[in-house]
Amino acid sequence: MAERKVRVRFAPSPTGPLHIGGVRTALYNYLFAKQHGGDFIFRIEDTDSTRFVPGAEDYIIESFKWLGIKFDEGVSFGGNHGPYRQSERRDIYRKYVKVLLDADKAYIAFDTPEELDAKRAEIENFQYDAQTRGMMRNSLTMSKEDVDALIAAGTPYVVRFKIEPGRDVVVNDIIRGEVTINSSILDDKVLYKSADDLPTYHLANIVDDHLMEVTHVIRGEEWLPSAPLHVLLYEAFGWADTMPRFAHLALLLKPIGNGKLSKRDGDKLGFPVFPLEWHDPKSGAISSGYREKGYLPEAVINFLALLGWNPGNDQELMSLDEMVQLFDLSKCSKNGAKFDYVKAAWFNHQYLLKQEDAEWAPAFDKVLKAEGIEATAEQEAEVVRMMKLKVIEYVDGLGNKKKRNISFASDLWPLTKFFFVAPTEFDREDKFIKKNWKETTADEMRQMLSVIEGIADFTVEGQKAVIDPWAEQTGIKPWNAWRVALVGAGQGPDMYELAAFLGKDEVIKRMTFAIETLG
Ligand code: GLU
Repeated sequence: MAERKVRVRFAPSPTGPLHIGGVRTALYNYLFAKQHGGDFIFRIEDTDSTRFVPGAEDYIIESFKWLGIKFDEGVSFGGNHGPYRQSERRDIYRKYVKVLLDADKAYIAFDTPEELDAKRAEIENFQYDAQTRGMMRNSLTMSKEDVDALIAAGTPYVVRFKIEPGRDVVVNDIIRGEVTINSSILDDKVLYKSADDLPTYHLANIVDDHLMEVTHVIRGEEWLPSAPLHVLLYEAFGWADTMPRFAHLALLLKPIGNGKLSKRDGDKLGFPVFPLEWHDPKSGAISSGYREKGYLPEAVINFLALLGWNPGNDQELMSLDEMVQLFDLSKCSKNGAKFDYVKAAWFNHQYLLKQEDAEWAPAFDKVLKAEGIEATAEQEAEVVRMMKLKVIEYVDGLGNKKKRNISFASDLWPLTKFFFVAPTEFDREDKFIKKNWKETTADEMRQMLSVIEGIADFTVEGQKAVIDPWAEQTGIKPWNAWRVALVGAGQGPDMYELAAFLGKDEVIKRMTFAIETLG
């Protein structure tokens, strides 16, 4: 058989916001497709109308846009295998339901929900299958005339898959190896419901994967139990030769304790489980998102990629392109990965530090706006420049080289507040203040104040030209006390730069306040 072009798909059901585990599934599909020069398809599986949530589809598309994961075809992307929304493919499914019926691989069943409940009450562990289908109301037990008459009268029915019992069904999984189950434990799954003229997930999924020429099905472990049924469906259609290879990914697990990662874990421990903020259209409840929390998309992609896979060495920081090179589907873990939200913040820190000054500006602007600060673009750029150079890696007032641990743009506020808001109090227990504001300090600052009042050119150079010689002459080392007055703590950029940024009036105001308050 000729090598087929690799084609994979991400096929969410629009039942709410996209879970972060779903994002990882999509990412692995993307990496696999790109590394094989293949296609990545975006399909919407919306055949369960009772679970449809308005806005979910747009949310999912926007999420991937933000994350930089690109699809080659699918809903909103176009392509030759459409439509890509299952609710728009009814004609196609109807045709394939008929194929199975005509081949005697499926049958029509009229049992009402009440009748099924009664059977469940009557027979322990009742399952609709080869053993029980002979006692039910279906096209296998009824005459053709009765069946036709019921259909003609508009009686609701379903089409069920006729599973032959006693067969070993082998699912050949790239991650898990051969998984074998006996067909006798499977029930005759409903494939189609006349009530809404829609197929169920199983039928639509298989028909679409076949028609869209999907070669690999990479999806969450929760779909593994459906895989034997899917293998049987491919066979029933005569598509076994082109059946996709399966790869079922291990679950993302709770950071603490056992079990699957849930939204509740995120709420409890304070991290998002959705890529973007989600506004529930029914309840109005808002769930936090990575984007709004201040994560960079590159950081989210990087830490997600490593939950269930690693490149085999200890490299942690990788671009999407590097991941495409290094990714190995067969090396994905069979065991669930604990969701390490602390590590997620570490990744964001790494990516924030990699950014150029200009890239910080929009995020910083948002932080200031949120604090009610009105600043010009020039002022913001100036602070960003000073911060990058002097604050993130800075020398503190005690002469120690330090690094600020910034994980999110919002962490910048406590570090930059003094640029925009004057100190209103001084912590006398603060080490830096204690060490640098002594009995003689107020007097020295008063002297410095009168020198400053006389400076006409308040640029960095202008100040330097006056203050440096004054310090030299008097032997006063004003820098740390000056920092106490302007910043209120042992942090911040070069003092001349800070003073130039604040302007002469503000500098005088802050110094006067410090002299009065600290004495
Ligand atoms: N619609 C399924 C989901 O919501 C797709 C499962 C699959 O990939 O086959 O995840």
